[in-house]
Amino acid sequence: MAETAPKVAAEERRESLAAVDREADALAKQIKKASTLSFSLVQASLHPLCTGIPDFRGPGGNWTLRAQGKPRTKHANALQAIPTLSHMALVELQNRGILKLLERIAELHGNSNREACKDCNKEYMRDFRAVSTYKNGIHDHRTGRKCARCGGTLVDSIINFGENLPKRDLDLAYQHAELADLCLVLGSSVTITPACITPACTIPTIVGERKGAKLAVCNLQKTPVDGITDYRIFTETDILMAKLMEKLDLPIPPFILRRRLIVKVETQEEDRRKVEVTGVDSDVTPVTFLQSVRLEGSRRIARAEPYIIHVRDAVKTGAEMKFDLEFMGHYNEPNLELVHSYNGNEEVLYLLEYNPETGEWTIERQETPERVVECIVLDP
Ligand SMILES: [Zn+2]
Repeated sequence: MAETAPKVAAEERRESLAAVDREADALAKQIKKASTLSFSLVQASLHPLCTGIPDFRGPGGNWTLRAQGKPRTKHANALQAIPTLSHMALVELQNRGILKLLERIAELHGNSNREACKDCNKEYMRDFRAVSTYKNGIHDHRTGRKCARCGGTLVDSIINFGENLPKRDLDLAYQHAELADLCLVLGSSVTITPACITPACTIPTIVGERKGAKLAVCNLQKTPVDGITDYRIFTETDILMAKLMEKLDLPIPPFILRRRLIVKVETQEEDRRKVEVTGVDSDVTPVTFLQSVRLEGSRRIARAEPYIIHVRDAVKTGAEMKFDLEFMGHYNEPNLELVHSYNGNEEVLYLLEYNPETGEWTIERQETPERVVECIVLDP
């Protein structure tokens, strides 16, 4: 938080790779022994759109370069949006059940990309900052958008000073602090102020002081809990996590951006057709990730949601409709040409996957499940 950040940056220290290697080895042995591992204080929140395929870490790969502290060769400005090697390592540990509590702790102070419906609690992960303008005060969390499912008011997930943290998350965090065999603090200065009573501050202390539990802190600067740590590693989080995963003999999955898109064609009168392109979430509620949609042969470019294009000419069954999709671009994802094979009035769900390392999209046409149709009818 800005008000607790020191005016002069704290001094940074980096241990030798050999020293980090030894510590990663000891930590890996500890993790294999531990039954419950609680990671806390991961500073950036985990991205929900993660899945694994090829390699992000080959020689010259962005992660490798980043772990070595070298400049990236390509896609450099997109990397802010792309989860780090450490994030993906944590995803893997979580998927394997080694890591028990992560996301909620990481997000206790909110996630500027996440907003939720006040009425039905549906959450929306956005490709953009989804935060209130706070022009009606810091406790007015309305983002100005409405829920695509129920029409309710959307609010951001940011916890401002003087506001209570969600009780459920707090309880869960403390519960895990009591159970965890090991708590790993990554890239956090564990700032503890007299006013700070949040788990982000106290969990490392609870675990560090509990008999039998171990506390590991990886950070470049000193932290107030250094005196009670069992492992204190001065290096970049990505360097430690790469070594740790190697010692655990676990892969670090690459980050793949997954998008879902529905193309809906409707005959209006005779040869007139209405084509609608909608970005959707995994539960088929609309999601904003497109900037514009162009249909080959049509003069108009749809630049605002809903992306609707009217086709005046006859379209034969089996004809190819070529769409040029322009994305928000936070991942540096290039435009994509989507070829839709027209098969009468229908809705087709496409799964689009983008690999930031190769810069390529893949498209998979999926069966449109029945529930998709239901949801679309319900949505305004
Ligand atoms: Zn709702």
